[in-house]
Parts: sequence; C-alpha cells; structure tokens
Amino acid sequence: MHIILFGPPGVGKGTQAKMLSEKYNLMHISTGDILRAEIAKSSELGKKAREIIEAGKLVPDEIMIEIIKNVVSSTKNGFILDGFPRTIVQAESLDKLFNDLKIKIDIVLYIDVDEKEIIRRLENRLSCSVCGKIFNIMIDKIEDMKCTNCGGKLTRREDDNPEVIIKRMKIYKDSTEPVKEYYKKKNLLSFIDGSGSIEEVFESIVNKLGQ
Ligand code: AMP
Repeated sequence: MHIILFGPPGVGKGTQAKMLSEKYNLMHISTGDILRAEIAKSSELGKKAREIIEAGKLVPDEIMIEIIKNVVSSTKNGFILDGFPRTIVQAESLDKLFNDLKIKIDIVLYIDVDEKEIIRRLENRLSCSVCGKIFNIMIDKIEDMKCTNCGGKLTRREDDNPEVIIKRMKIYKDSTEPVKEYYKKKNLLSFIDGSGSIEEVFESIVNKLGQ
C-alpha cells in the first residue's frame, strides 16, 4: 500500500502516520523528520534547513525532490508519505518518480481540522527528542518534561511558536493547498475529519483503508 497523508500543519499527520505504519507494516516517510535529523547532525543540508524551517518557510523543491528520490528508491514494501508533496512541482515530480519505479498511489488521505483548533494544537505540542512521540500539554499528563514512552526529553519544535505558525498556515494556503485539487482531479483524494480524538481519527482512516 502507498499512502499520502496530506493536510495543514498540526492536523495530526505525524501521529496518524506512526500508528498506520505499525498497523499496516508500512514505512513512515516524514520529510519533516528527515530534515530535523539533518539539523541534529549539523550536516550542510541541516544548516540550510534550520534557517528555513525556523522561519516557517518551505525548503526548496529541488532539495526535497532529491531527498524523496533517495528514500523512495530504497523502499521495498509499502509506505506512507507524511509532509510530501507540499507544492504542485513536488507532486508532479513524485508522479514522474512513481511512474519510473512503477509505484501506484493507492490513496491520498486529506486530514482537515479548523484553523483555530490547529493553532491551539500546535501551540500546545511537545515531542520526544528520542523516539519522536508527540504530546499535547492540554491532553496528556506530562511530568518533568519526560516522554511516557521512552523517558526521553520532551521539547517544543522551534517552528511551533505563534508567529511562525501564522507564516506556516499562510504558506500552506498559498503553496500546499493547490496540491489537494491536483489529487482530487486524479480521483485519489479522500477526506478525513481530523477534529476528533487520535483514536477516532485513526478509526475513520482504518475504515477507509480496510482491515
Ligand atoms: P513538518 O514536520 O512536516 O511540519 O515539516 C517541518 C518543516 O520542514 C516545514 O515547515 C518545512 O519548512 C520543512 N519541510 C518538510 N517537508 C517539506 C516539503 N515537502 N517541502 C518543503 N519543505 C518541507
């Protein structure tokens, strides 16, 4: 199965992708996580990406397309793309790549939540610096800023501050939202209401995908 998880920042794509990758034994490919790993390594790419991410902007298409080419070409089983494509140019390049590799997109899950709720979620989001588990300080019981899964330190993403969140939402509307129409025209888009609990959203995705 080859799934694209699509939607504005903060709708829960990362959380759902992790759960889906376990249930269906799919590789979770998160371009945001790949970039954050490069930042942690202080690689050349990481240094470049850091400035862009902290400003709430998008990393240039040619860099992202190269990353995706390398990762996707090395996969053997199915996968979930989380955070890619984010522009029409990326979506077109992905089609070309999948065509070359004879990979078929099964479904594009478009998760949506209203904007006020997105901002509330992003402002309250913490993630584990070791295992990546995502927490919400309004919902989850957090003690000593420690991950309940692995004990790692919980941190707030640099780009989850109100000023940068507003910029990310604008860029989403200008550059990423048109990708929704792109997949709708190809009859691949499936709408998921992301406003419920993590379990409710997961259940509606599983209902769409089948057991
Ligand atoms: P995410 O974790 O998916 O919210 O991604 C965090 C940040 O990484 C984004 O705000 C962008 O700056 C950058 N990024 C991730 N994926 C892409 C992409 N496909 N194209 C451009 N920039 C990206």
